[in-house]
Amino acid sequence: MTPAGVPTTPEDVVRAAAGARDLAALDAVVPTCRACPRLVAWRELVGVEKRAAFRDETYWARPVPGFGDPHAPVLVVGLAPAAHGANRTGRMFTGDRSGDFLFAAMHRTGFANQATSTRRDDGLTLTDIRVTAPVRCAPPANDPTPEERRTCGPYLGRELALIRPRVVVVLGAFGWQALLTTLAEQGWHVPRPRPRFGHGAELVLAGPDGAELVVLGCFHVSQQNTFTGRLTPEMLDAVLLRARRLGVTG
Ligand code: SF4
Repeated sequence: MTPAGVPTTPEDVVRAAAGARDLAALDAVVPTCRACPRLVAWRELVGVEKRAAFRDETYWARPVPGFGDPHAPVLVVGLAPAAHGANRTGRMFTGDRSGDFLFAAMHRTGFANQATSTRRDDGLTLTDIRVTAPVRCAPPANDPTPEERRTCGPYLGRELALIRPRVVVVLGAFGWQALLTTLAEQGWHVPRPRPRFGHGAELVLAGPDGAELVVLGCFHVSQQNTFTGRLTPEMLDAVLLRARRLGVTG
């Protein structure tokens, strides 16, 4: 780590995650991280070049911490921040169509106080749910390398240990693979061969301390899925309501 405590190597990430005594400390250290040179360069380049529609905005251009209820029994996990979404606003799933779709569903199912999510100070609050990702920096082509995912894994491992959610909703096959691999590396008991992703898939995993976690698969909230009707609002609501039954009211 640098003298200022900035993680710059995979070993630093392990130490920084383990040293975060609570969620606030973890959320404070994540945005300082510079351990993946390719992702640091990309997230910052995107923040300088910008999309034309956002040229007057200052991009976050840093790693994005999780967002939501610090005691959430339900965690929603994507893959990584979007270049002009969370990498711009600094909040997971905020500032793009994917987030619009997701937070509208959270509002309908009682997890969010409002249906929209545009910026960090828009008044959105989440109850019983938190959104996060196995990779905290926007990757080129939404495609982190296995090494980058591995390097970032301790942050998600620590987040799970601190929150101890009962249910994780995973958005998309890439997120599913990344989550299961990260969990296995962080000491969770993940069957081999790895269970396949599917919309509505469910599996129960045991954590390093014996805690049980239900993992629910859901098609990703990308425009590719939502514009084509592959993922409808009703389908997403059903997964979130299942998560609520398992994690909150069950
Ligand atoms: S992806 Fe994770 S480990 Fe890599 S620089 Fe970003 S926050 Fe750090």
